[in-house]
Amino acid sequence: MTEASSFRCGYVALVGRPNVGKSTLMNRLIEQKISITSRKPQTTRHSINGIKTTSSWQMIFVDTPGQHSVEPRAINRYMNRVARSRMHDVDVIVLVLDRLKWSPEDQLVAERAQASGKPLVVALNKLDRLQNVELLLPHIAELSQVIKADYVPISALRGTNLDQLEAAIVKYLPEAPAQYPEDQVTDRSTRFVVAEMIREKIIRQLGEELPYATTVEIEQFIEEERLIQIDALIYVEREGQKRILIGEGGSRLKQIGIEARKDIERLTGQRVMLKLWVKVRSGWSDDERALLGLGYIDSI
Ligand code: GDP
Ligand code: MG
Repeated sequence: MTEASSFRCGYVALVGRPNVGKSTLMNRLIEQKISITSRKPQTTRHSINGIKTTSSWQMIFVDTPGQHSVEPRAINRYMNRVARSRMHDVDVIVLVLDRLKWSPEDQLVAERAQASGKPLVVALNKLDRLQNVELLLPHIAELSQVIKADYVPISALRGTNLDQLEAAIVKYLPEAPAQYPEDQVTDRSTRFVVAEMIREKIIRQLGEELPYATTVEIEQFIEEERLIQIDALIYVEREGQKRILIGEGGSRLKQIGIEARKDIERLTGQRVMLKLWVKVRSGWSDDERALLGLGYIDSI
C-alpha cells in the first residue's frame, strides 16, 4: 500500500490591508469568481471560504475582510473582530502585501499575524507592476529581519508564481483527509454568492457614494427548468441614495442588473431572470442588531 496518509488538508487565512489583492488572489487560486473584487477598498464584508483541491492536498481559504483601525461604526467593529478571530482558526496565514509597500496598516496586520503564532507566508503581490525588480531581494532580506516568514513574490492578476505560493503553504498543512468534496469551491450558498455579486456591481457603479450603506437580500430564488428567477432587495440608508442607485429613468439600476446577471449566469451555468428593488432602511449600519435582523451578521 502507498502512503495514502500523506494527503494534507487545512485552513489558510488570507490577510492584509484593503486593496492589496486578497480577493483577486483567492479567485485566481481557485480559478472561479467567488469573492468580490473592486478598485475601491473594503468591498469584502464577509469572509468567504474558497476551497482548492488537488490529488495531494486541499486548502480551505478564508478571505478576511480588511482590518480597519479607525472607523468606529458598528459594522467596522464587527469586521475587525471577524478578521482577528479568523487568524486563530487556521493552520497557515498568508499575509498579502502590495509590492514593496509597507505602511503602518501593513505592519499592524503583520504584528497580529505574528502574535497568533501560526506559520506565516508573505505574498508580495502585484509583481507585474513592480518598477524596480532589483529592489525585491534586498526588501525581502530586510523584511525577514522583522517578520519570520516564507516570502513569495506573486502576481495574483496574472497568475505568476502561484505554484510557489501553494508549495510554501502546503508544507504547513496538517496531514488530514479532505474536508470537502473535490468539486466544491465554496461553502457559501449560491444565494449568498449571488447577493455578493449584486453588491459588487453596485459598488463598481457607485463607488464611494455608497460606503457600506448597501446590503442585498435575496427575496426569491426559484430554480425552474433551465432558468433561475431571482428577486433581490437592495437596502440603502437614505432616500437620496435610493435615487442615485436607481438613476435617470432607472438606467443605473438596469445596468447593475445586466452586469450582475452575467456573473450569476456564469456562476450557475443557467439562464437567469433577475429583478432588483431598492428600499430605504435608515441607520442600520450603526446598529448591530439591525444587521443581525438582516442576516448579515452571524451571532458571534
Ligand atoms: P483586497 O481588498 O485585498 O481583496 O483587494 P482586491 O482583490 O479587491 O484587489 C484590489 C485591486 O488590486 C483590484 O483593482 C485588483 O484588480 C488589483 N490587483 C490585485 N492583484 C493584482 C496584481 O497582481 N496585479 C495588479 N496589477 N493588480 C492587482
Ligand atoms: Mg477583498
